Amino acid sequence: MDVSQTIKWMEIFHAKINENKQTLNLLDTPIGDGDHGSNMVRGMNAVWEGLEEGQPGDVPTALKIIAKNLLSKVGGSAGPLYGSAFLGMAKSMQAGGSFPEAIQQAAESIMQRGKSTTGEKTMNDVWVPVAQALQAGTLTDESIDQLVQSTAQMKATKGRASYVGDRSMGHVDPGAYSSGLLFKALIEVEG
Ligand code: ADP
Ligand code: MG
Ligand code: MG
Repeated sequence: MDVSQTIKWMEIFHAKINENKQTLNLLDTPIGDGDHGSNMVRGMNAVWEGLEEGQPGDVPTALKIIAKNLLSKVGGSAGPLYGSAFLGMAKSMQAGGSFPEAIQQAAESIMQRGKSTTGEKTMNDVWVPVAQALQAGTLTDESIDQLVQSTAQMKATKGRASYVGDRSMGHVDPGAYSSGLLFKALIEVEG
């Protein structure tokens, strides 16, 4: 993953977030406050402006620009979590880690920041297994869809969705869905 691929990754993710704004808001309605799509659009607009203005010359610098804008502009709970993910990635790459290792670090950073783990119906249920699949070279669009859909049968125990308890079951988690879009964008970049 070089700097132009990192920017391409964000360009595709930005487009997917814009296309799925309503879907993400609708997923966040029965188990949350209906704003995840709007939050992510605001954040990715800022990421795109930040990358255009910052003209990063290396991958960690690009990842830090992405992190900063997600952290400050997405808002809600997803902003700090996505921000931590990209900051974790930046640190891992700076320390000489491979790209799959950086995604692994990102997943751990989200869990640390969110005081959460897998099986709690959150974005962790995409990030953690995706990190493993990247290491193994087995990530596909279909496997991403399966991970996203697997959150429907889970009961939320973290974040806003935990307030509705058992009634969270049967609904896909919006943060898992947006994370799925991020990794589908990655597949498009890596080809
Ligand atoms: P808010 O809930 O503040 O409105 P968003 O709607 O933008 O924020 O984001 C909600 C998403 O954040 C959830 O779908 C879930 O994936 C993720 N999330 C919330 N809390 C946590 C947590 N503690 N750990 C991991 N992910 C979380
Ligand atoms: Mg919300
Ligand atoms: Mg909110």
